[in-house]
Amino acid sequence: MRTKKIPLRKCVACQEMMPKKELIRVVRTPDEQVLIDLSGKKSGRGAYLCGKLSCFKLAKKSKALDRALKHTVSLELYDQLASDFVKVEDEFLLAKESENDDEE
Ligand SMILES: [Zn+2]
Repeated sequence: MRTKKIPLRKCVACQEMMPKKELIRVVRTPDEQVLIDLSGKKSGRGAYLCGKLSCFKLAKKSKALDRALKHTVSLELYDQLASDFVKVEDEFLLAKESENDDEE
């Protein structure tokens, strides 16, 4: 029997469980930067958000990233992350489509 384990993560904004590749990873790097990590491989404390602008906005409203990253995230930074997301959204969607079968 083939059981393929799909790693699930929770979106910190809307609390929905989703396959990891459907989510955007936001990472707090060891030098205290908070940024979007499309590769999913940067070191640091990570938090996941649905690949939807609405969840970035929701996260800002509820300060979800502050809690998830245990770090104060300024409102400007939330806006910055949201506009960064808009920039990488196409790349994210493409990666999502092409990476169907490479989970270890
Ligand atoms: Zn969400």
